[in-house]
Parts: sequence; structure tokens; C-alpha cells
Amino acid sequence: MSHWKQIAATKAILGRETGAILKDHGGKLRIALAYPNSYAVGMSSLALQILYRGFNARPDVVCERVFWDPQAAAAGQPLLSLESGTPVADFDVWAFTVSFEMDYFNIAAMLRQAEMPPLAAERAGTEGYPLLIAGGPALSMNPEPLAPFFDAVVIGEVEELLPRLTALFVEAIEEDRERLLDALEALPGVYVPGRRVVGQIGNPSYEPIARLWVRDPDALEPVSSLYTPDAEFANRHLIEIARGCGRGCRFCLAGYVYRPPREQPIDRILAWAREGLTRQLPVFAHGGRAGTQAPSIGLVSAAVSDHSHIDELATELHGMGARITVSSMRTDPISVPLVRAMAASGTQTLTIAPEAGSERLRRVINKTQTEADLLTAVELAQTLNFPQLKLYFMIGHPTETDDDIQGIVDLTLKARAIFRRNVTINATPFVPKAHTPFQWMAVTPAKTLHARQVMLKRLLTKHNVTVSADSPEWAEVQAVLARGDRRLAPVLMDIDRLTLRGFSEALARHGLAAEEFLDERTPGTPQPWDVVESGVTPSFLRYEQRLADRERPGHRCPPGAVECLACGVCGVTVDVNTKTTLPVTLSGSTA
Ligand code: SF4
Repeated sequence: MSHWKQIAATKAILGRETGAILKDHGGKLRIALAYPNSYAVGMSSLALQILYRGFNARPDVVCERVFWDPQAAAAGQPLLSLESGTPVADFDVWAFTVSFEMDYFNIAAMLRQAEMPPLAAERAGTEGYPLLIAGGPALSMNPEPLAPFFDAVVIGEVEELLPRLTALFVEAIEEDRERLLDALEALPGVYVPGRRVVGQIGNPSYEPIARLWVRDPDALEPVSSLYTPDAEFANRHLIEIARGCGRGCRFCLAGYVYRPPREQPIDRILAWAREGLTRQLPVFAHGGRAGTQAPSIGLVSAAVSDHSHIDELATELHGMGARITVSSMRTDPISVPLVRAMAASGTQTLTIAPEAGSERLRRVINKTQTEADLLTAVELAQTLNFPQLKLYFMIGHPTETDDDIQGIVDLTLKARAIFRRNVTINATPFVPKAHTPFQWMAVTPAKTLHARQVMLKRLLTKHNVTVSADSPEWAEVQAVLARGDRRLAPVLMDIDRLTLRGFSEALARHGLAAEEFLDERTPGTPQPWDVVESGVTPSFLRYEQRLADRERPGHRCPPGAVECLACGVCGVTVDVNTKTTLPVTLSGSTA
């Protein structure tokens, strides 16, 4: 595809959007904001929208979006920004928001497509290259596999730091790069990998980077301002109604990277929804505009139904005539008004996530929805005529046996008996994540997982249940990246077309083997992710791991996360202006 066709294609995409910010570049700091996956996936990311708005808030800054397009890369086309079709190498700052490990391969491919030296060390000392900075949940828990690519990584939530970060870019981007890195390193939550030599990580004299989290929900504006019919969440007004989750599921990265749980007040959420519903977004049909429509309202949180005013919120939104979607839901308890509002919005599938088939294993993973909770939700789905029921399970949890897989079959068949329409289950392999109680666990061998997935298909398909089973081999690749270290960076650059075989061959070419990353780790031994201070104490993680060994449920954050210092997160706060770490007393005041 020629360059002008490439530009025409981006113009067509922009033409279907609402809310894009178009600025001329003259005299401004130029920031390329990249989401390392397709436009459709990236445009469904609230983090991307918050950063886009935040960077563009300054009149002397222009921020444009960049997405991964494998066809364009395969055709040898340059990596261009969406708004103006400018090559990313021409920007002053190239910022990435990274949520998922499997997107690491796309980052490596985008660096190749951008035709600039991928490693920060290779760019050091040469003027003219953009400053490469990144952030996001995956990197905030273990930045090491990607560390060699970036000049700086923001660990944790960036909102409160963003104005200072942008001001620093504006002030110092023309200055000597080392001086800029000095200033970045002086900021709270900013990790400059080039300043930390491998081997020093875990060295007690080397201060880990304290994860940033926003104490005051009022400081957040987690709501959409960009809309397109071409996103996975098409024309959706996303509202993050709460950040974090206090349930403490031992496998869950979101439950630890966003601690403590903080919710938005209902009045604020309703005001955002009202504002969203006033928007009239173009509807396209037969290649042209065919009227307008208000966006649907997407409620975002690790556990939407845990919001303390969820019933009232759902009822109010339903009363406003909003079409509601939710990102996740628990059944203990289920919010009946929320499920009713979803059914009235035409939601096709009710998705619940037991995660494990037996009560025993649900105690081990500390996701303690009872069978009664789960089946009550199934009955509600049947009563409200949802066309489809989806049950999410993970397989390969620590201590799992074939009896637990039989537990999945038994629970699903009980749901099958209640719900008369489509029933689908997902059987996703468990992947241990850094800074969670299961961070030290071994990955269950792919052979065992395959056998368990076959068992599920054999025992459920005949009962007209669809079993969707994610690949254990690709889960191993994700696990290598989730607990990997800097030695993986050249491996990522050494993969042209991503295949399982290509990945293991690239590992071997760099003297590595997957087993090293998949095997059990010994608590207390240095780990690559020790460069991050998540705020959760190692003793708390071990305590939760021991409870798992004893099949006991664990600690749950108290409502409002007040009067609690259990895991350590609420016990300290980082002053983003002074970078000082302040102990917090039980009353929440800083000592
Ligand atoms: S200190 Fe308590 S309330 Fe705060 S995140 Fe940890 S467990 Fe939750």
C-alpha cells in the first residue's frame, strides 16, 4: 500500500471517530502514544484515553496515537501516528501503555518497524531519537523483560504524576539526555532501567521503585472521551466505577496491582453517565452515515458488582434508558438490579467466573463464591432470558487434581440443568504473576493441562456445552514473559513471525530455556520483579500462600479499605511532589 493510501486509510478511521484531538505540530512537544495491539483493541482501553487526554491537556503539547498493524509492517510501511500520519521516529517522546504480556511481541515488532535502535543503550549518546517511556499493569508488576527497550518506565498509576512528567518533557526534552534521565529518576514511581545494572536488583542497598497509586478518587477522571464504531467496545462510554478489588484472589494481578480498592461516589458516576448519554455518535451503514445514537455505558472495574451502591446505580442508569455493559461480576452476592439492567440493555451473554470447580480449590485460590451463589446467578440468567451463559474457569491452579476438574463438570452440569439455552465454559490455563501470593508457583505442564481440557470436552460436549480451551503452550509463553528478566529482550527482538516453535528456538539461540521461567521459585530468593515495591509485604504474600496450602480463605480488604494495614499497601503513601514515602496511621492520616 502506498504512503498516500496509508494516509487515506488513517483519515477514514478518523472520519468515523468522535473526540479525536487534532493539533498542528508547530512549536509543540510531540508525544506519540502507542497501544501495542490493533486499533480495535487499543481504542477499548480506558488507560489510552486517560493518557491521550492528559498529554493533550497542555496547549504546548500534541499527543497522537499509534497502534500495531501487522499488515502495514509486513508491507514494509513506516509506523505512523493516526492523527497526522507522522513517523513515530519524528516525535520527541514515544510512550507505550502496556496491559498484557503477549503484547510484548508487538512492542518489539513496532520498534523494528520504526527503524530505530530498539535498545536504550544503543540509542544513548545519539541525539534525535525520541525518549521511550512505558507504563501499564503488566510493566508495573514486572518491567524487566522490556526494561532494555525503554529509557524510563512508570510503575503504577500515572494520573497524579502526569502533569509533572509532561512539564518535565516540555522543559527538558531538548537538553542532554542524561540530564533528562536524572530528572526522570528523581520523580516518584519512575524507573530508569539504564541506571540499574542486573544483579543489583534484589540487592538490599538498591531501593526498589515504589508503585504509585492515587489515594483520592477525586483526582481521577476515568471516563471515555473518544468513541468509534470500530473498537471492540464500539461507541461505548467507559466509566471506571472503582479501581482495584479487595477480594484477594491469590492468582489475580488486577487484585494486587491496583491495591487498595477505591470506588467512585455514585453521584460522580451518574454525572459522567448523563454527560455521556448527551453525546450523539454517528452510526454508519452502507458505507455512509445513517443517523446518530447515544453511546452505551460500559461500567469498568475488577469487580463491578462490589461497588457499595451497585444496585442503586444500575436502577438509576436503567431509569435513564442507558444500555449497560459490565467488565466483570461476582455472584457473592449477585446484584439483581444490575443483571436486570443488563438484560434490558439487550446484553446477550451473562458471564460469571467460578474460576475453579470445587469449593476446596476455590478456597485455595481465595475466590470463595459458593455453589449456591453461582447457581443463583444461573437461575437469574434463565429467568431473565439471557441467550447465553458463559462460565469462566482456570485450570492448572496450585494443588489442582482431576477431582477438581470433575468439580467443573459437576458444577457446569448443574448450571446446564437450570439454564436451557447456550452454555459455554472457558478453561484457561493459570499463569503465575509477579507480586501475587502465587508468584512462586510452578506452571502446570502443558501435557497435564491438555489432558484436563480433553476430559472437560469429553464429559461436557455431549451435554450440549461448548468448551473453549486456551492453549497451554501459549500460556507458557505468557508465563515466561510474566516472570522473565532482561535476557528476554533480545529474544523478543529475534522473532520475526511469532510461532511456538519460533519462540522456543529464539530462547535457545539466546541460551535460555522456558523451564527456567516456568519452574517453582523459592520464596525469599531474589526475583527480577524485586525492582518494584508493590506495597504488599513479602510476609503477607507468604502468609496468603501458606493459607492456600492449608486450603483456607484469606484476607479481604475491609469496606473502604479503612483501618487496615494487613498487606502493607495502606500503611504507606508516596508524596508525588516530594517523592517521600510517608507512613500512614490506622486513622488514615500520615504520621
Ligand atoms: S492494607 Fe488492608 S485494605 Fe489496604 S490493600 Fe492491604 S488488605 Fe486491603
